[in-house]
Amino acid sequence: MLEPALKTYIERIPKTELHCHLEGSIQPATLLKLAARHGIELPFTDEEGAKAFYEFTSLNQFLGIFALACSTLKTRQDFETITLDLGADSASQGIPYREVFFTYAYHDRRSIPWEEVISGIASGREKVKQQYNVEMWFIADIDRTVDPQDGVRLVEMAQASRDQAGIIGIGLDSQEIGYPAKRQKPAFDLAKRLGLHRVAHAGEDVGPESVWDALQSLDVERIDHGVRSIDDPALVKHLAERQVALTVCPLSNIELKVYPQLRDHPVKRLTDAGVLVMLNSDDPPMFHCNVLDNYFAVAETFNLNAADIDQYARNSFKAAFLPDERKQQYLADLEREIKKLRSEIL
Ligand SMILES: [Zn+2]
Repeated sequence: MLEPALKTYIERIPKTELHCHLEGSIQPATLLKLAARHGIELPFTDEEGAKAFYEFTSLNQFLGIFALACSTLKTRQDFETITLDLGADSASQGIPYREVFFTYAYHDRRSIPWEEVISGIASGREKVKQQYNVEMWFIADIDRTVDPQDGVRLVEMAQASRDQAGIIGIGLDSQEIGYPAKRQKPAFDLAKRLGLHRVAHAGEDVGPESVWDALQSLDVERIDHGVRSIDDPALVKHLAERQVALTVCPLSNIELKVYPQLRDHPVKRLTDAGVLVMLNSDDPPMFHCNVLDNYFAVAETFNLNAADIDQYARNSFKAAFLPDERKQQYLADLEREIKKLRSEIL
């Protein structure tokens, strides 16, 4: 059992989240609200039913749930609603800074115009700042399976909406098996020329070769997941030496059976090897866990102390795409808060 004092410490220490998907963050209550807004029939009628529906036993079932949740997103107002939800959620978890993925391919397939998505997340982001004092930025993810030309088109659209919606970079997600990162090299080359940050999901369903592929073909600055890097000592050394951050989502990996149990997960081994690891939730309601739950579970399983927690919180700011001066400011605020929390709680 996690010590109550350490639990409170984790709740209150400032931290960022850098690996969370907008479309995977729709809470059951919001899903019901969105469906009612559009007269969409769901296979459940109340929050309890929705929560039960969110239980899945296979990847296919998970993808079905994800698709159903996406189908309730149609208008600017819907995208604003879910962005605002994430703002409230950030405030409740001690997350003053969050970078959030959105994957336009899911909406493009349903003929939702780019402008609906962009104007919704843009106004949601403004309100999140005003109402919760949470700083939120977006990363436009390219679905690995799309035609490379569509990847380039997405980068062009993201660049055009960059200031409006606070788009900070380009990412890569969806099916890793059979779709190497290098397919999307033209899009990432363009993103680099435009000065957009670059990240990629890799090393989740495919081993270290997928992480090398993302690093070498796309010149990404961070790897999302990247946990299977542990199988290649040369890669672990490379990540540690260059301080390439891994945005690790331990409980998501357990839910999707990348590892059978948390004690088999390499989060601690990667950290001990000097890799810049930080902790995230991925798709919170779908995996029944938020950022705090991931910290709690890792702390309990690997018997962490407050100094270990401080390090994960520091790493979370170090890995963020903040301008240097602002990053130093956040890190200085964190050190002040650590001192205060230690004297108050521990
Ligand atoms: Zn993810």
